[in-house]
Amino acid sequence: MRPFAFARPSGVDEAVRAVAGDPEAVFLAGGTNLVDHLRLGVARPALVVDIRTLTPRDVSEASDGGLRVGAAVTNSELAADRRVRERYPVLAQALLSGASGQLRNMATSGGNPLQRTRCAYFQDVSEPCNKREPGSGCSAIGGYTRYHSILGVSGAPDAAAPETCIATHPSDMAVALAALEARVLLRGPDGDREISFTGLHRLPGADPSRDTVLRHGELITAIDLPPLLPGTRSAYRKVRDRASYAFALVSVAAVLRVENGRVADVRLALGGVAHKPWRAARAEQALRGQPATGASFRAAAEAELTVAQPQPGLDGGNGFKIPLAIRTIVATLRQLTPEA
Ligand code: SF4
Repeated sequence: MRPFAFARPSGVDEAVRAVAGDPEAVFLAGGTNLVDHLRLGVARPALVVDIRTLTPRDVSEASDGGLRVGAAVTNSELAADRRVRERYPVLAQALLSGASGQLRNMATSGGNPLQRTRCAYFQDVSEPCNKREPGSGCSAIGGYTRYHSILGVSGAPDAAAPETCIATHPSDMAVALAALEARVLLRGPDGDREISFTGLHRLPGADPSRDTVLRHGELITAIDLPPLLPGTRSAYRKVRDRASYAFALVSVAAVLRVENGRVADVRLALGGVAHKPWRAARAEQALRGQPATGASFRAAAEAELTVAQPQPGLDGGNGFKIPLAIRTIVATLRQLTPEA
């Protein structure tokens, strides 16, 4: 492990200045991902800036009827908040499906969406990896691809460049926040700005080393959950190799409002299938105004997966994710419409 300096600033602005002023500096919040990477040699910062106690650690009512989640609120605290459980069950369920109790006690709301891929080659510094070392190649292509992408990769309409990285984003929380159309509040060296959660993460394109659009030194200070219209239901469903403490093979976050038997509004996001939480825009478009039936759900799910690009691999590849994603979308929407 490379030796590094450690700073514990007294405020957010001081922390932002410290990281922005050193290209080899990083923020440390809960440390549930960064500390692993320090040990593995995946992260080799010169300076670690502790922000754990600097950002808000409370969940407050917003003037628009939504909730504002301070960046230092832990995953356990957020999942246990009664307002979150009652008004945003998709988020509480996603949080509780992630990691272990001990990790959720440490992981923060600002840090969770910024955790990095668990691609085994990324975490093994002896393997070529474009994300860890740009230009070195991608060991996953033609390797073990069970946990890798099927959407947003080479040639897909949403991909910006040929395959440079087929990693998946690991956060469950982020999939729920994408479906909820959350907003992200940032503090950076140039001041404050706010972005949509769906705009936070990026596809690999020509530069898979960058997971998000954040500028160096920018810090998440809070996440806003917009209010949902009365009658809206939501749920998170995760399919994985073990019953707990495992990353998603496929996951679905669904937010659904049905009126008179028809889909008045729907938002769907998928996890375990792409470099970022995958907003299923094709499925949403196919569903709006349609009868809330299993047939409509299946047609919409199939529409989303028409652009999937399964990856061959030493483990048989990940083509199984296509029918799995279709079935998981249908099951989640059925769960939200027991009367249909
Ligand atoms: Fe690296 Fe991405 Fe390839 Fe994994 S999939 S080895 S993270 S470039």
